[in-house]
Amino acid sequence: MTINTRIEEAGFRPASRIASVGVSKILQIGARAAAMKREGLPVIVLGAGEPDFDTPGNIKEAAKAAIDRGETKYTALDGSPDLKKAIVEKFRRENGVDYALDEVTVATGAKQILFNAFMASLDPGDEVIIPTPYWTSYSDIVEISGGVSVLIPCDAKAGFRLTADQLEKAITPKTRWVLLNSPSNPSGAAYGAEDYRPLLDVLLSHPHVWLMVDDMYEHIVYDGFRFVTPAALEPRLKSRTLTVNGVSKAYAMTGWRIGYAGGPKALIKVMAVIQSQATSCPSSVSQAAAIEALNGPQDFLKERQESFRRRRDIVVAGLNAIDGLECRTPEGAFYTFSGCAGVIGKTTPKGRKIEADHDFTDYLLEEAHVAVVPGSAFGLSPYFRISYATSEGELIEALARIDRACRLLTKG
Ligand code: PLP
Repeated sequence: MTINTRIEEAGFRPASRIASVGVSKILQIGARAAAMKREGLPVIVLGAGEPDFDTPGNIKEAAKAAIDRGETKYTALDGSPDLKKAIVEKFRRENGVDYALDEVTVATGAKQILFNAFMASLDPGDEVIIPTPYWTSYSDIVEISGGVSVLIPCDAKAGFRLTADQLEKAITPKTRWVLLNSPSNPSGAAYGAEDYRPLLDVLLSHPHVWLMVDDMYEHIVYDGFRFVTPAALEPRLKSRTLTVNGVSKAYAMTGWRIGYAGGPKALIKVMAVIQSQATSCPSSVSQAAAIEALNGPQDFLKERQESFRRRRDIVVAGLNAIDGLECRTPEGAFYTFSGCAGVIGKTTPKGRKIEADHDFTDYLLEEAHVAVVPGSAFGLSPYFRISYATSEGELIEALARIDRACRLLTKG
């Protein structure tokens, strides 16, 4: 756990499984920024983990048509046959992986896929290896499921990637899963085939360890980066790999809540049992929309990718021009994860010392009215995350404000 707050209300005793889990720092910052905006302050929020684009028109039309056809009832538990067919086809077409219909599952967002998978597989004390920086929900879901997150720091020098040596050392008899996310939220770092290879070799020699990969940002990659997924790269691991994906980011469908996965039949079956007692099927209308997303035209993905690339370049160049900050160029997703070691130890105009990355991000919010998220929220300091899923104009203004705020800091 990082800097989540504990949930404690007088007269209510939370279950022990929730004791170390709380409202995430990202939501806290968002709430504070929203309150400042209500007071009339011109806050720029670079915290949101969702594209600023609209869901494409053909996808919305498919949802409307489904409503008109009366597709407003429960569907098959973990996805309608037509959506499962579209997912099987997507995995074959885009990833070169063959899954059968009973090897795919659909849930209310990729988040529920992760939840189903961990609830289905973890006994108390079972370990899940998670490289940091990591998407904050990972460790919370592992802990709610009774597991233990084993966090492995992977800093900018390592390209924010786990090495084979680190993986080998982290594996114990209690390890159930290794969870990899490429491209990553929050670092934007991605594993190419040559980055995955040594890790997959380690896993081949540890048959009790399963691999979960979160490919959510597959379609947001830059500079000709070739996205690959481990089940395609190493067929010998396919029988213990869960390939997680969803329509939220690529198709700007965060609110539709559809995530999916491909994996071994036995696991997929138990994941459906968990889901059956939590939410039953995902929304029937959203499933119809997801079918159109996966089967329909894909050319807009390239245009959106190009737009994200321009914004990435603006942000990376802007950050690297600021004294005290350092930003590695990400291969994908829509986040930068910048080092801020150069401002630690400095003093703000109000005389407050910046001792950690969250002091810096608090200062940026107060002084520059720019909301970003500290690295500590993602398990690695001293860094901060910017989400650049916003207009170029806003990004340029935010960078100018961050620059001004950094110039006001004094040594000592
Ligand atoms: N995986 C990663 C890496 C994410 O960043 C997110 C959302 O921020 C998700 C999964 C969850 O996606 P969904 O909207 O499908 O639940």
